Amino acid sequence: MRALSDSYRHKGLRKQLVELIRSKGITDDRVLAAISEIPRHYFIDSAFDQIAYEDRAFPIAEGQTISQPYTVAYQTQLLEIKPHEKVLEVGTGSAYQACVLALMGAQVFTIERQKQLYDHNKQFSYLRNFPGIRYFFGDGYQGLPTFAPFDKIIVTAAAPAIPDKLVEQLKPGGKMVIPVGEGKVQQMLRIYKDSEGVAQEEVFDNFSFVPMLQGKAQSPKS
Ligand code: SAH
Repeated sequence: MRALSDSYRHKGLRKQLVELIRSKGITDDRVLAAISEIPRHYFIDSAFDQIAYEDRAFPIAEGQTISQPYTVAYQTQLLEIKPHEKVLEVGTGSAYQACVLALMGAQVFTIERQKQLYDHNKQFSYLRNFPGIRYFFGDGYQGLPTFAPFDKIIVTAAAPAIPDKLVEQLKPGGKMVIPVGEGKVQQMLRIYKDSEGVAQEEVFDNFSFVPMLQGKAQSPKS
């Protein structure tokens, strides 16, 4: 296993990244504080160590990606996380987004459909800093009915349409942030479920995510 170290250089690059994200319009200080605290280079192959603090997505295993820091910040800001809220994340991937949410005080439940990514996180030592995060291997289209309802839901893969089961698993007054679209580009939507249980939709900027796929995936070698 690779030794993890967070040097002054990494910390300096992280500060610059935070300032860049702020200049792009992220104003929630708690989101920026989480990004400045979490060593993003731990979540990325060591081959990318020198460029881990560029504001871009990187490949992780199984053809997936760790989202661009600006995108993580954008989705997190839209979620308006308050401490102790129950948050469901669809698409654990590298677990970076899950750590941002946990650092902001959320109670995080995160689902990943790729077995190899799910297994990797079980032996990723940095995640022991966030013992409250609960990891699930499963299909995010189903949500987590056993643990529902949730205050907030964040989907970090591109959904062709808003999944009904996820809307059902939101509390009245809850919010879901999800990129929706069938092509290369998706619109970021925020679904607000009002106290009567009626869902309302707000539309934000365009982004480009890896697709949200049906079912679970297990690579033959894992
Ligand atoms: N939040 C991640 C981003 C990972 S990219 C991070 O911080 O690194 C999106 C992830 O969603 C991929 O790992 C992909 O395998 C996963 N995914 C796609 N469809 C899914 C589904 N139906 N259920 C659960 N995870 C899914």
